[in-house]
Parts: sequence; C-alpha cells; structure tokens
Amino acid sequence: MSDKGLSRRQYLTTVGGTAVTLSVAGCSGDGDSGDGGDSGTERPTITAGTAPGFPPFEMKEGGDLVGFDIDLLEAVVSETEYSFEGWEEFEFDSLIPALTNNNIDVIAAGMTINDDRDQTIDFSDPYYSSDQAIVVRSDGDFAPESLSDLADRPVGAQKGTTGEGVVQDELVGDEITENQYNAYDNYVLAIQDLQNGNVDAVVIDVPVANTFAANRPVEVAFVYETGEKFGFGVRTDDDARQEALNSGLSTVREDGTYEELTRKWFGE
Ligand code: GLN
Repeated sequence: MSDKGLSRRQYLTTVGGTAVTLSVAGCSGDGDSGDGGDSGTERPTITAGTAPGFPPFEMKEGGDLVGFDIDLLEAVVSETEYSFEGWEEFEFDSLIPALTNNNIDVIAAGMTINDDRDQTIDFSDPYYSSDQAIVVRSDGDFAPESLSDLADRPVGAQKGTTGEGVVQDELVGDEITENQYNAYDNYVLAIQDLQNGNVDAVVIDVPVANTFAANRPVEVAFVYETGEKFGFGVRTDDDARQEALNSGLSTVREDGTYEELTRKWFGE
C-alpha cells in the first residue's frame, strides 16, 4: 500500500529502463513544417472517447474539451504512426461499450486498470496513480475520519466507477443502506448534490477531489487508499494500438512532455 506517491516517478524510471525507441520514418508529429506536405499516405487512425466532468483529467471549458488526458493522449498518439481523428464524449459507464462496439478506439478517462475491466478490454501501461477521497462540504459540520464515520449518511459516487465500488463493497449493507447510496451519471452532479445537502459525502479519485475542492465549497475529509493506476483502454484484440500507445507513452515520459503536462494540470 505504500507505493503511493512514488509511482509516477517509479514509472518514469521503470519505463525509462526498458524503453525502446520506435522510429517511424517520416512521422514527426506536429513538428512538420512543410505545408500540406504529407498527403496521400494512408495512416491507421485513432478515435478517442472520454467522459468530461472529471477535472483536471477531462472537462469542458467554454465549450472546448480540455484536460490532462486530452493533452496526454494527443501527445502520445502524435508519437505513433496513427493519425488522431478526434474525441467522442460519453457518460463514464458508456465508455467500455463504446470501445467494444468500435465507436471509439481508445478510452482516455482517468480509467483505473482493474481485473473486472480487464476481462472485457485491455489497457496501456499505467500513466497516473490515485486513491479514493471522501469529499464533504467545507462548512465543517461533518468531518468523517474513516469509512465507519459515514454510518447512516447518504453517500454519492459516479456510476460504474471504482469510487462506486468502494461504496458498494465497504459501505452498503454495513454502514449504510442501499437507499443511502446515490449513483450519479457524472461526478459534477454528485458534487452539486453534496453542495445542496442531498448527500453528505462523495467518494471520488483524489486528484479530482482536489480540483473540486479548489473551486467549490467542498473539501477532502480523508483518503481511502486503493492504490489505483490509470491506463488508456483498448480493445482486447487490438495489440497494435496497445503497443503503439505504450511506445508513445515511454517517448513522452522520456522527452519531458509528460512532466510538463503534469505541471500544467496538477501544478506538480
Ligand atoms: N478512476 C475511476 C474509475 O476508473 C474514476 C474514473 C472517472 O470517473 N472518469 O472508475
């Protein structure tokens, strides 16, 4: 359980140690300065899917889709032979069906790599780590310190998430009743309901909890360690895209892009 915090740096070293540089002739990402030069070459494509409302990984800003996952995936794809076709937006729990139905080729949505999902899809190498935060209103009236302090309180999470998993596995049927769990289509609605007093706590990934806490009258009461790692989701039979993404990920880690993006979006 104590790999928290080490992991990002650890990945840098681990991946750095086993890195293979993929050289794709004539593919120089966005650095190509010849105008209109590369027409006529058929390149395989990647259409990505995400679920905005999960800041700073993905959110809408003035109608634009922005965030760490958006920048990172686009940077990674630009290091591969794939041509990036753009983004499709879904509710989080529709992303895996969208992938398996071929509506999208890659999921970039702060999605935790876990055994459950691994039965249906595959993942790239991990690119971020997280635990779950228990978020409360910042008025100080309710300051839980552990899951048992949530006894008999209405609790919210987003459908189909690992945060929901914590609520279902650790709270429902024990500390709270099924009815005291409120499932939301997205975390923005869950946090709004927390602010409105309709739930007393929301279980959500730590970096996203910190972003909401910086912008709204809510705060992290405590962290429940889950040691999650986020990966890009790909179809199980799609070894080519999986390998391309892994190779692109090691390139952006080695060339400083990854660090630059974490600084941009997490201020680290
Ligand atoms: N990391 C969590 C999960 O994979 C939440 C992801 C999200 O809400 N976008 O379930």
